[in-house]
Amino acid sequence: MKTIFALAFASTLLCCTARPETGSDTPVLSAALADSLPQGNPNPYYSRTDTTHLQVSNAEWKKVLPPDVYEVARNKDTERAFTGKYWDFTGVGIYYCAVCGNKLFTSDLKYASECGWPSFFEVERKNAVRYEHDTSYGMQRVEVLCGRCDSHLGHLFDDGPPPTGKRYCMNSNVLEFVPKIGLSSKQ
Ligand code: FE
Repeated sequence: MKTIFALAFASTLLCCTARPETGSDTPVLSAALADSLPQGNPNPYYSRTDTTHLQVSNAEWKKVLPPDVYEVARNKDTERAFTGKYWDFTGVGIYYCAVCGNKLFTSDLKYASECGWPSFFEVERKNAVRYEHDTSYGMQRVEVLCGRCDSHLGHLFDDGPPPTGKRYCMNSNVLEFVPKIGLSSKQ
């Protein structure tokens, strides 16, 4: 585990040559899924329209989230670099919080940082996320949390591309991408 973390951290420090993405990949979610949530979703807190701040215990989240999502979102785990489903994904659409459905990023805010995690230079709107000072593992970092459900999403770094110079370094498994073509007119 120490080795994995060391590699992940090294990648974080070494990465980030910004280059624009093409937006040509095949969407990963079907239109049916995009339109159906939360129908058929075992997570009763998920909503792409309700922005009410959630106060849900970890015990409750553990009942409704997949284990890998829970570990990142609620235990602040980090997925291994170059293993997540979105680190080099270039589909055109919207990224929601996989825990609560909060709208976080659009694909035009994503860039190829080459750090091994999906990276964005800006959030979709100011209150989409909130920030905390993170001193874990002997580092000084800015943690990024979902503005609606307070789940851990990743960290914010100052080595991103213009115009912000920021890199929102996210974990793929707490993001849910919905392709533009799959979004209903109500969303
Ligand atoms: Fe959330």
